[in-house]
Amino acid sequence: MKKLTERMEKAALARKQAGLERHRPDWRPIDAAHVQRDNQSILLLASNNYLGLTHHPAVQAAAREAVSFGAGSGGARLTTGGNHLALALEQELAAFKGTEAVCLFNTGYMANVGVISALTEKGDVVFSDSLNHASLIDGCRMSHAQRVVYAHANVDELARLLAETPVDGQRFIITDGVFSMDGDIAPLPELVALAEQYDACLLVDDAHAVGVLGATGAGTASYFGLTEAVPITIGTMSKALGSEGGYAAASQLIVDHLVNTARSFIFSTAFSPATVAAARAALAVLRAEPERVADLRQKGRLFRNALRAGGFSIDDSPTPIIPLIVGDAEQATRFSQELLSDGILASAIRPPTVPVGTSRLRLSVSGAHTDQELLAAAERIIAIGRRLGLAGRKNK
Ligand SMILES: *Cc1c(COP(=O)(O)O)cnc(C)c1O
Repeated sequence: MKKLTERMEKAALARKQAGLERHRPDWRPIDAAHVQRDNQSILLLASNNYLGLTHHPAVQAAAREAVSFGAGSGGARLTTGGNHLALALEQELAAFKGTEAVCLFNTGYMANVGVISALTEKGDVVFSDSLNHASLIDGCRMSHAQRVVYAHANVDELARLLAETPVDGQRFIITDGVFSMDGDIAPLPELVALAEQYDACLLVDDAHAVGVLGATGAGTASYFGLTEAVPITIGTMSKALGSEGGYAAASQLIVDHLVNTARSFIFSTAFSPATVAAARAALAVLRAEPERVADLRQKGRLFRNALRAGGFSIDDSPTPIIPLIVGDAEQATRFSQELLSDGILASAIRPPTVPVGTSRLRLSVSGAHTDQELLAAAERIIAIGRRLGLAGRKNK
């Protein structure tokens, strides 16, 4: 395997020179907003645990109790791994999302690759936002459809590409609802109009939108009042719902097709009973206490405003994801390291996750943060940002 060794050594050197090495951390989780390492308590400003439900007592209790059904599921969903808990969660999610049916997958990643490859055929064309999540891109790569990428959220360019791309089969428009690394929202009304005009199937990935957007946290379509107009929504229980597992919410016809053909659904052992029970309990908390969504939005506003007052230029958005664009990958890593020695975990996001030259700290707010924690963290971020020359002078 000489060729492989040479290839890997070359790649390792290139990663090192570009400041793009990745490492697996060893955090000891404490609660929904803190981890510990070497006895230092560290504030998480980087997780997707938007409502802090990983550590909600009812969610943890549900997971503990469901272990009585087995630590693992013991089989694939269509064989021995299918159980009453999973069917119940599917019904509850369908009611929450306002769709006929839901099909669970083990992860959101598996939902995206499974759904896109199952629904597309040769001759189809997928129109895909340039900042879509890697799992949507991989789904397109696994399909036999042609992929046409439009500039991020640029509906004029999408309209032009729809008009000039010849299509024998079905058109699809695929987008994140909330973009994971920028925290902005897809221009859904315009996408719905274009989908109608071109008879395209619109697929929205709501991984970062559930629990975040809409009065009840039902996601992007609900936020725009367009629930009926989006035929397929992908979601995950791994973010605001504090557990794990992905899903596709759609018509019964589509869901039946997925159950029968989506390879990532069929050929993988189903999630554990505890995972499903935790997700069900988290969804029940969200449904009973929708005020958690407004509280999260309020905390996001507080944190954005504090950072802005310190000279960072930050776009307005009702989401809890706040990118501090640094540009250079090494600078982003340095910023993140300095914050960590100050007890704040804010991940540096670098290529290939984001385009070259847009390396950033991706900050995310959670309902588990207190206002005081957020304000104190903003102060430290501003101080370190100024020291590194990354925060502008205070705007007057
Ligand atoms: C996190 C994420 C996924 C993957 O979901 P997992 O359940 O973590 O596999 C899919 N799409 C988007 C937009 C995401 O941010």
